Order: sequence, then C-alpha cells, then structure tokens
Amino acid sequence: MEGAVQKILCPFWTLTLFNEWHAANTSKKIRAVMVSNAKQGKCHAPVAPFGYLVGDTEDRLPVVDETDAPYVRMMYKMRSEGASSPQIAKALNAQGVITPSDYTYKRLGKPNPYISNHLWNAAMVRDILENPIYKGSVVSQKYTTVSYKNHKKYIKDSDEWIVIEDAFEPIVDKELWDKVQEVNKSCSHGKVTKSGVILPLGGLMYCADCGAKLKNNTTFHETKKRGKYKLVTYICNTYANHGKEVCSSHSILQRIIEGLVLEDIRARAKRVIEDEDGERQRYMAIKANERKQQTEDKSRLLKQAENRLAELNTIISKTYEERMLGKLPEDLSAKMLEKYTAEQKELTAQAEQWKKSRLQAEQDSEDVEKFIQRLKKWSDVECLTRELCLELIEFIVVYARSEEYGAPRKIDIYYKFISKPLADSRNLLLPQNSVEIHQS
Ligand SMILES: [Zn+2]
Repeated sequence: MEGAVQKILCPFWTLTLFNEWHAANTSKKIRAVMVSNAKQGKCHAPVAPFGYLVGDTEDRLPVVDETDAPYVRMMYKMRSEGASSPQIAKALNAQGVITPSDYTYKRLGKPNPYISNHLWNAAMVRDILENPIYKGSVVSQKYTTVSYKNHKKYIKDSDEWIVIEDAFEPIVDKELWDKVQEVNKSCSHGKVTKSGVILPLGGLMYCADCGAKLKNNTTFHETKKRGKYKLVTYICNTYANHGKEVCSSHSILQRIIEGLVLEDIRARAKRVIEDEDGERQRYMAIKANERKQQTEDKSRLLKQAENRLAELNTIISKTYEERMLGKLPEDLSAKMLEKYTAEQKELTAQAEQWKKSRLQAEQDSEDVEKFIQRLKKWSDVECLTRELCLELIEFIVVYARSEEYGAPRKIDIYYKFISKPLADSRNLLLPQNSVEIHQS
C-alpha cells in the first residue's frame, strides 16, 4: 500500500529520476569500494601478469615466477640498451617463449579462445615494458567505464591511477625500470635498418628546414682504388619521399655525424672532469637563460609576499569587524575593502608564479646534476653506441650544407636534461615543439 501511495504522490518522471539517481549512487559506492581495496594493495585478478604467480596470502599479491621472470629481465635489459620492441619480440620468439595471453590461459587451465599464432609482437612487448607491476608496484583504477549505463572501458590519465610503490617483490629494479621508461619516451623509436641493426643516431636527427626526421640511406660504390664499398648517409625523409622540389637532401655521412657527436660528448665530459663546478654553473645559466627568467632570488620575494598576504588577511577581517560594529562608515569601508582585496588577489597570483619558478629552479639543478653524472659515466667512451645516444641526446637538428665551398656546416645537438624534450616527436617544426631554429 505504501508503494501505491508513493506512486500517487510521485509523478512518473520523479520515479525515473529517483531510479537513475539510485543506480548512479550505487555505481559510485562500488567504485569507492574498488578504490579503497586498491589503496590497500588488494589484488583480485584470477591470474597474475606474465612473470608472476598469484600469491597464496590473503591479499593474493603476486610472487615472482622464476620460470618466466628471466624473460622479463631480458626484455628490460635489451630495451635499456636501445633495442626496439619488434627486435625484442623477435628474440622472444626465437627462444620459443610463451606469449602473455597463452600464459594466462595456461594458468587458468583453459584453451586460449582468441585466434593466436602464439607469437610475440611489438604491442605485447610494449605492454610489459610500460607496466609498473614489474618494479613491484600495484597499479589499479587504470581503466574506467564511461558511466553506470555505458560499460565501454577506457584508460584513465596516468595521474588518476592508484599506484602503490614497493607493494611486492619486483622483477626488475627501479633504476632499470626508469631507464626503460626514458628509452620509451625518446623521440626515436629505434627503427631497425635493412641489415637488422639500429644505428646509434637513428631517429634522433631532424631536418632544420622541413622538420622531418633524417633517415638512413645505404648506397654501393666502386672505384679502382677502393674496390667495392658501401656508404651510409642520413638524408631528409621529405626529400627521400618527395624529391628536391620540396626539400633538399641534407645528406650527411653516418661516419661524419657520429664522429662529430662523439667529439662533442667527449669534449663536454673532459670539461666536467677538469672543472665540475664551473660546468655546473654554466649549464645552470643555460637553463635559466632558456626559460628567459631573471635570476632574482625568488625565495626572498616569496617570503615577503607571504608576510604581506598574512597582514592583508588581518587588515581585511578587521575592516569587516569595524564596519559591523559601526565604527567605520559604509562607503569608506567599502573602498578600503576593495583596495585590500585587489592587492590580495594580485599578490596571490604573483606568489604562485614565484613558487612555480622556485620549483623550476630546483628541478633545473637536479637536471644539471643528472646530465653531469651521465657525462662522467661516458667520459672514456671510444665509439658512439645506441645506449649512449639514448642516455645523452634528446634530438639533433641538421642544417643544409652551405652553397659556399668549405663553409662550416651547422649541426645543433640538444642534450637530455639541458634542453626540453619535444612535445611531439613527429616533426620538429610543429608549433607545440616551440624549438627555436637558428637559421644559418
Ligand atoms: Zn627536409
């Protein structure tokens, strides 16, 4: 009877709305429980990811499966040294390693329902190389559905994931995991040449005129003196695809560019070894200059601003109080309040700016330190390797050869931690990259 009364009292649309609200609210509650479980590091998956087994403790945290974990370590090591995902997939297939999906169904004791050639591919490798679980972190709340009505899954922004560090035994150490993430973020994807190798500078060079990548090009020659020989050059990709009407070749011999880069790295390393403090200051100045900000003492200004803001707070509440008590005439207090709140607003915005630039300065010194340590690590290097290039170089800009015979050729090397990474690695000249090209 009560239901009937309610039905009479509530028009149809109210009931519908109530039902919708109830469903949405329940969905929110379930999500809240899931988030809370995730925060406690509880694991509910029936099968652990490749390289792990589900633990037999109450929270079912994964434990390292020493049968397949060595392959995970191999994948991370290969990637850290510059191997590409397809190369790693090839190595796994050559060793007959079980694929992640076959691994899952094997553990479930069921046949794999998906059509599969039982071979690793680049995407499977990338999944493993990007998963924080391999450094012992629990990651959850990575996926979400559109709403309680639409169950289509999508990946949330990584800052919304719940990541609990050191939740269980890692398969690779943090240092290696971080190094691999850095390689994953490089503007070079590590394209393999026809002869099956990745050249040290492959994918790291851009054409200064059209912004396209430089690609390697092998040509075969024969002279009486040298006999048969091959030359590897880098040329602008636009030129290679569309010809000289669109861009010039920007051709540079692999041997020459590698020599130049090696020389530059060795010279920098030498300077660091001879005068580390001087070089540290020099790089800090470069970074400060890059941001085009004055080198004022932001901490002092910020302190002053914070004191004044505290003062303003007191003044404003006092003014209100006096107005309430009738000690201040209405129009005068309104004027005063307007003035003080305007000052408060302006100063708060300014203080935020200073805070940001102070944080930036702290980041700068951390970055410079990392760069210096890496230069020191590679100070004895004899030849350019892929690993070295990925550790030190963000990208390189190659300018066209000058028409004047013997004129120097311009090459800009942008180093990691000193220069900003490209926002979009597809083309150097995209507006979001805001790289200042020094036209020669
Ligand atoms: Zn070009």
